[in-house]
Amino acid sequence: MIQKTVPAPADLGIEVIGVPQGSDVELDLKLEAVVEGVLVTGTATVQLHGECARCLDDIAYEETFDLQELFFYPGREVEDDESVVVDETIDLDETLRDAVVLELPFTPLCSDDCLGLCPECGFNRNDDPAHSHGEKIDPRWEGLSELLGETDN
Ligand SMILES: [Zn+2]
Ligand SMILES: [Zn+2]
Repeated sequence: MIQKTVPAPADLGIEVIGVPQGSDVELDLKLEAVVEGVLVTGTATVQLHGECARCLDDIAYEETFDLQELFFYPGREVEDDESVVVDETIDLDETLRDAVVLELPFTPLCSDDCLGLCPECGFNRNDDPAHSHGEKIDPRWEGLSELLGETDN
């Protein structure tokens, strides 16, 4: 096993969540020579930073992703999505990108039961689950309540 910490490449993420460029990526890799090339398997542990889709709070957590990629020896025709050993080194950026980006949640949440923001005033309801603006009168009944108010007089 090879254990290595490398800086995260740029754009390792999607709009709402991702790995900050330059943050630590811990790689735990096994390299096996196979007939066609080098088979890389293992895991990458990254620091994810994002924004809760409901309450917009910052989210930060660590997650481990599985990696597997066959790097073909040079001199062989490869498809666009296949990798090649170049100058006796392998470039894991694309492998990392495929493993991490495809697994990221499109609507990350700070917690599964996040209460989100108040639709009326934007208050973060996680700070006070009892937050409310009182009973709202249905606008269709406003005329009626005025009428009733008049008869009360
Ligand atoms: Zn939230
Ligand atoms: Zn409110």
